[in-house]
Formats: sequence, C-alpha cells, structure tokens
Amino acid sequence: MGDKLSLPLKPFRSRGGVKAPHRKHTAECESVVMPPPSEVLICMSQHIGVPCKPVVKPGDEVKVGQIVGDNDAFLSVPMHSSVSGRVKKIETVTMPNGSKVQAVRIESDGQMTPFEGIKPPKIETRDDFIKAVRDSGVVGLGGAGFPVHVKIGVERDKVDTLIINAAECEPYITADNREALENSWGVVSGIKAVMELMEIDRAIIGIENNKPNAIKVLNEVCREANRDMHGNVCVLPLKARYPQGAEKVLIKVCTGRVVPEGKLPADVGCVVMNIASIAFVSSYLKTGMPLVTKRITVDGSAVNRPQNVIVPIGTRIKDIIEFCGGYKCRPEKIIFGGPMMGLALPDDEMPLLKQNNAVLAFSEKEAARLEPSDCIRCGRCAAACPMGLTPPLISGLVAKGDAEGLADNGIMVCMECGCCAFACPANRPIVQNMRMGKSIVRSAKKK
Ligand code: SF4
Ligand code: SF4
Repeated sequence: MGDKLSLPLKPFRSRGGVKAPHRKHTAECESVVMPPPSEVLICMSQHIGVPCKPVVKPGDEVKVGQIVGDNDAFLSVPMHSSVSGRVKKIETVTMPNGSKVQAVRIESDGQMTPFEGIKPPKIETRDDFIKAVRDSGVVGLGGAGFPVHVKIGVERDKVDTLIINAAECEPYITADNREALENSWGVVSGIKAVMELMEIDRAIIGIENNKPNAIKVLNEVCREANRDMHGNVCVLPLKARYPQGAEKVLIKVCTGRVVPEGKLPADVGCVVMNIASIAFVSSYLKTGMPLVTKRITVDGSAVNRPQNVIVPIGTRIKDIIEFCGGYKCRPEKIIFGGPMMGLALPDDEMPLLKQNNAVLAFSEKEAARLEPSDCIRCGRCAAACPMGLTPPLISGLVAKGDAEGLADNGIMVCMECGCCAFACPANRPIVQNMRMGKSIVRSAKKK
C-alpha cells in the first residue's frame, strides 16, 4: 500500500475511558491444564454469524478435534469435539443472551484420543490460508466471537496494519497476559504467518502498561523476530485505562485512525486480532488440531482457588469451578467475561464457549446492586464515553421513543462498554437505556 508505514513510538490520544480497578489477582498464576471432564456440551453457536447444525447423532463415537457441527455459510465456523467419547444427545440450550441454540452433549471416555484425520493444513495460496483458518474453528477469542477467516478474508491491498489486541483492560482477566508470557513465540509466529499470507506491512501489539512482564517478553521476541520481519513489528504499551481493548479505541490509539459509524476496521486499513486468536492460528498451522481448548481466568470472591486454566471447550462452569477448589460461599452472580462487559449467567450449568476468556463468581456483598437516584446533570457519563455520546440527552430521547433523534445523536455507535455507568455518581442504569435506545432505532428501521 504505497510507502512503508512507520511504527508508532507512543499511543495516539483517545477520548473518555475510566480508571477501573485492575484486580489482576491471577496475573502471576501459570496456566494449569484441566483434566477431561465427564461430559461436554458443544453449542452450535459460539460466534457472531450463522449457527451450525449438528453432523453427529446420539450414539456416535467422536474423537478430539472431530467436527460435530457445521454450516456452509461464510459467516460461520465449524464446531469440534473437545473430548473423545460418545454423543449422548442433541439438545436445546438457552444462551446467556436468551437465544436458543442446538448443542451436542458428549460423554467423555477420559482418553482424549485425537481424531485420525488431523494433520497440518497445506497452504500455498491466500485462499488456502483463509480456508484453513475457517476449518480451524477459530473466532475472536477475546470475547467478541467474530469469525477470524472473515476478518482476514478482506480484499487484498485493503489492509496495511495488523493490530494484536493484548490490552486486556477488563478487571480480573489475566488469560491474555498468560498467553503472552507462556506462548510468546506462538504469538509472534502467528503474526508472521498472517502478515506474510495477507501481505500486511506492519503489526502493532497493543498492550496496557500494567503488564510489565508480558511487555518485556513480547519486546524480546519481537526484537528477535524483526531480524527477518524487516523491523515491521512492535509492542506498543498503552495507558491502563478501560476500554483500551475495545476495537475502535484500540485502532485509534495504535494508528490514530477513526473507524466511522457503520464501518469496519478494514475500511481504515486495519485487521484487529486478539492475542490468543493469533497464537492459536500459529498452532493450527503447525499441528492441524482445531480449536478445542481455551485458556481462561477463573476468579471472583466466591471462588476458592482463583487461577488461569486451560479448559476443554464445552465444559460446564460448575466443573471448572470444582477444579478451582469449588465455591467459598454461595455465588450470587456468575459471569462470562469481565465485570464491565461480561454476561451474567442464570446458573453454573452453562458450558464454556470459544469466545469466553473468564468465569467470575461473586459473593452477595460484591454482587449487590446500588440503588439508582435522580440524575444530577454532572456530565461525568459524557466525559467518560469513548464514543463522545451524551447519555442524559439520549435518556430523554429513549423516554420519548424518538428513533430519529436517537439515530441523529449517534446511539448506534454505543459499544455498551459501561464507562458511563461506572462514572455515574447516581448509579443510573445507563447501559440498559442505551440498549433500549438501539432497539428503538432497529425497530423503526424495520417498519
Ligand atoms: S456504554 Fe455507550 S454511552 Fe456508555 S460509555 Fe460506553 S459507548 Fe458511551
Ligand atoms: S453521570 Fe449520572 S448523574 Fe451525572 S449526568 Fe450522567 S447520568 Fe446524570
């Protein structure tokens, strides 16, 4: 894409954000591998896009890495068994967002026998690479769950910058920090593969400066790797300020570019990949083993032994917590992801999904909700909003059901990051209000 792009020496400015408490208690906990659970439940929708259909039936024998669900749609990825054993049943599961999806329940034989057909993919062209990434079942592992092959399937020449999201700005979560520390060469070789196969000029690893050990290790491997990567890769320490890891914020601080409303990162020349996703791509290219395990942080005041665990996908939360010493007290709130943007679960029967990076369980004291009071028009919510929105103004428009006014005031760019609610001294339910506003605009568009 024209002249060689320079690497940033310091982050570009971004607006808003909040100083959320870090609570990275597990940052020094080396990841432990969880033994196979007695059964797993593989959901047919673990990504943004078209859900899969089961391709196995009750009674079938399956092995680790074997496809158990697939769909021909481009915006979809196959689902693989994370254990060897027998399919018990196909059932319907209610996801944390209320949607219902099919799932394959597999009883593990405890052997973890790999599927015979597993071998490294043969890659000669860019299309081979995109197909291999789809076959691997990888999606954005930082929480979004967007299929990676769609991100890298953008037109040649459209993208000049690969951004690796290692910010990990949500409190408690340290799984990406551990990925950097325990698998730094995997991260760099994934970057190299994506840059070469997509002909991308430069890569920037964006990481919050509250992870000095990971920054040091990544700098060391990048220095080595830059000998044959022409100095095109850098580590960019960012201010530890939530939400540095939000895609649009990360693009702004790493490149200075602004993704316009309704546009994608590729429209401003960027592809953003989570650090765990890029490391997984490297491992898949070497081994051909699809995505069947996930490194997650297990923490929260109700958990006996908070730690980082590598877990077979589809393991019930209950079994994961049990592996971490069980509950210390009755869990009042269990969430997938961090406390700022995570999804609350109805119970601990839900299975681990590909895109989950943490399971947090909180006692009654921490889960208690503060009573909202009247808005005092202090403006802190607007000052904290990374997207420049004005929540009190939007609240008024939501109350009136004014779809046009909401759209004109940019409601659709709200990424539900929760900075506004975090900053609000009156504990106003601002994010719920934003969601309501977005659904008013969507319904009006359908009419
Ligand atoms: S949730 Fe929406 S309105 Fe609130 S700070 Fe985030 S982007 Fe702004
Ligand atoms: S921060 Fe809360 S109290 Fe202050 S203006 Fe916003 S909604 Fe009102």
